[in-house]
Amino acid sequence: MSGVTIIDVSPRDGLQTEPELISTEDKVKLVDKLTEAGLEKIEVTSLVHPKRVPQMADAEDVLKQVSHNEKLQVIALIPNQRGFIRASQFAGLELNWAASATETFSDKNLGMTIDRNFEIFNDVIKEVKSKGMKICFSVAVSFGCPYEGKVEEEKVLELVKKAVQAGADRIGIADTIGIATPDAVDSLLRKVLDVAGETKVSFHIHDTRGLGIANAYAAYLAGVRIFETAVSGIGGCPFAPGSAGNLATEDLVYLFERMGIETGVNVGKLLEAADFAASLSTKTPLGRIRHLDRERTIKELVK
Ligand code: MG
Repeated sequence: MSGVTIIDVSPRDGLQTEPELISTEDKVKLVDKLTEAGLEKIEVTSLVHPKRVPQMADAEDVLKQVSHNEKLQVIALIPNQRGFIRASQFAGLELNWAASATETFSDKNLGMTIDRNFEIFNDVIKEVKSKGMKICFSVAVSFGCPYEGKVEEEKVLELVKKAVQAGADRIGIADTIGIATPDAVDSLLRKVLDVAGETKVSFHIHDTRGLGIANAYAAYLAGVRIFETAVSGIGGCPFAPGSAGNLATEDLVYLFERMGIETGVNVGKLLEAADFAASLSTKTPLGRIRHLDRERTIKELVK
């Protein structure tokens, strides 16, 4: 079976709501441990205003210190034009543009309307292309919003169409509050893949209600091959009440490797990275296989 790409977002999504500041050194150490485990794409930080998300105030320092790693595609989240200006000094950086499927979440998370957010994206992407950088257009709350409830597929698809036309390098569909179910994932992601055509599509998964792994597999069956998860299942959005951890990267890698779907990730080393991530977090980690007998887990993965 064909392989998958896993983007670990633990240094950004996993740590952004931690109340105590985590040192830059520890953030870089987490990225290094993830890279040692074989992850080649990591979202390391967010170029957001430090007043909005104080934990990400050291974004530039983190970016400077992880850039030594040649194998690694470093990704940073950007919420606006200012974020792009800060990002543009880092050659080779991949950007993740934050958009939203609902007006209320767009206002709370980004402080602007959906239309305004897209207008700015349209300007930013021209500069991104001229600098030879890549940008993903990520749609938050694609399945449900903490303020508006259920989200109609049409709203997401409309945004996806516009972003593809604008030249986005990837479309990110995010279940920000972990409210999706496998049938909804199957339905929406098939349509997104259809609209996206040649453009890559990724699925950002939260495990708030324990449905993360089922949703990931539904996305795989629908044709998605890029997944965003966080080691040890840490994570949450400061602007989405009730949101909890991402699906644990190690649990998703375990699923795929057991099924013979290649991830390129070493589970033993990934579990070490997951332990370290959990040690930085004050939240209850959501991951499962980290708590089992390690030797046995690794033996189960031998084909
Ligand atoms: Mg998230």
